[in-house]
Amino acid sequence: MPISSFHPTYNDNPNPVGQTIDLPGFRLSADQPGKDLSNHEIHDLRQNLLRWYGESGRDLPWRRTRDPYAIWVSEIMLQQTQVKTVMPYYEHWMQQFPTIAHLAQADQQQVLKAWQGLGYYARARNLHRAAQIILAQHGGKFPQDLPSVMSLPGIGQTTAGGILSAAFNQAVPILDGNVKRVLARLRGIDVPPSQAIKALWQISASLLDPQQPRDFNQAFMDLGATICTPKNPACLLCPWNPHCLAYQTNMQNELPVSEKRAPTPHKQIGVAVIWNDRGQILIDRRKQEGLLGGLWEFPGGKIEPGETVEACIVREIQEEIGIEITVGDRLITIDHTYTHFRVTLNVHHCQYVSGEPQAIECDEVRWVEVADLEQFPFPQANVQIIEAIKQQQRQ
Ligand code: SF4
Repeated sequence: MPISSFHPTYNDNPNPVGQTIDLPGFRLSADQPGKDLSNHEIHDLRQNLLRWYGESGRDLPWRRTRDPYAIWVSEIMLQQTQVKTVMPYYEHWMQQFPTIAHLAQADQQQVLKAWQGLGYYARARNLHRAAQIILAQHGGKFPQDLPSVMSLPGIGQTTAGGILSAAFNQAVPILDGNVKRVLARLRGIDVPPSQAIKALWQISASLLDPQQPRDFNQAFMDLGATICTPKNPACLLCPWNPHCLAYQTNMQNELPVSEKRAPTPHKQIGVAVIWNDRGQILIDRRKQEGLLGGLWEFPGGKIEPGETVEACIVREIQEEIGIEITVGDRLITIDHTYTHFRVTLNVHHCQYVSGEPQAIECDEVRWVEVADLEQFPFPQANVQIIEAIKQQQRQ
């Protein structure tokens, strides 16, 4: 569906407030917080934000291009990751995979290696799969209509809005974490953002400037990232302070209302660095599905209640790889936090005893030289294990 028929009100009427807006998966009614923004306020908010962006917007590499592929890569990298971390990865990625075709034709291991250290590896696997779909179904050209973009793996509504507005100047709204925070404050929304999603989409769509959607959405993201920050927002410098309900009521540090979170589970893991008589180490490649899919790791698993680290390692290696080992000294202990849980990796040196290694609970197992470990994509916690091995060898 072309964007003009998807959302005709943007071009016909600069103020869609009070109208019903259709977005895929949502039917947004005007009966939500934010409906009381007047035409005058909306006009002012747009003008103030765009003026501020002209003076203070960030100069970022992906803003110097209209290439939808480059913009798409940046949008995916910026999910859950800060600009300064993304910058070197983005530059390197665009050199290694300069076009959709280069990415589609690359080996998944190369793709994961280029992503190593950025975390949330499903993003890299989805980029790779989506590039292959674009090559097969769209002749290698990034699609320009919202439903096609949103059908690609790893692209949700706000990412699609970010890409279509930045690459093609289409009037598609966004609602990333920064935008949610700004809007919750601007409109004084007194419930956690997850309970006001439809209202937040509506306000974002209402505010979007139909004449300059590219600059408006980029400015919106910058405002959240640099002025309306999670802690101590710089309200005195904010172009929206004349209209901000949080600022007027001195509630900027109380909003948005926090989401109630369940306590983070903590898992104790036993991990084996298994050596054979030739001085090689056994590593395995994780199954494609699930956390860290397709990456390599040192084998191991969860310590059961009442089990020692050593007993856990022996059991896990027998169950997952089908070999006998003996467990030696502790190499390192690593704490690592994922989004929904924490792990402590209890890493021990182990000695191979007998049996043929098999990929029972993984996709592949391999004996490798220490010097070759760096060729494989590993999760960040495992990179620390490699460092510890090398450091011990230097001593
Ligand atoms: S005035 Fe303060 S709280 Fe309101 S949008 Fe601006 S920075 Fe955020």
